[in-house]
Amino acid sequence: MPDKETLAAGLARIRKERKTALHAWLVASFVLATVILLSTQLQTISWVSMLVLGAAFLWAIAAGLIAATAECPNCKKSFHFHGDDYFTTSFSNTSAKKCLHCGLRLDGSNIETYGL
Ligand SMILES: [Zn+2]
Repeated sequence: MPDKETLAAGLARIRKERKTALHAWLVASFVLATVILLSTQLQTISWVSMLVLGAAFLWAIAAGLIAATAECPNCKKSFHFHGDDYFTTSFSNTSAKKCLHCGLRLDGSNIETYGL
């Protein structure tokens, strides 16, 4: 059984990864809107804007995958996917507020019942 500090650090990492993914998708959406606006105003689209758009979406997809596949610091299983692995998962919720296996809450409010 992990100690409370390990659990708190693991939960903080999951929160940080989720926040990074949210920000990445917001930035990618803003870049997409800007590229659409610019290309309609200028009647053309440059390869630089396509490169920036591609980089923004690659960053958003990567950050989203990293956040979605986070490991629970308590049970060491997937925090957001219920099932033994990602291919046989029966339920997934990437905005889950608690581990879908052991129920450890993301805000750490029930950490006393899990940690040493
Ligand atoms: Zn868990």
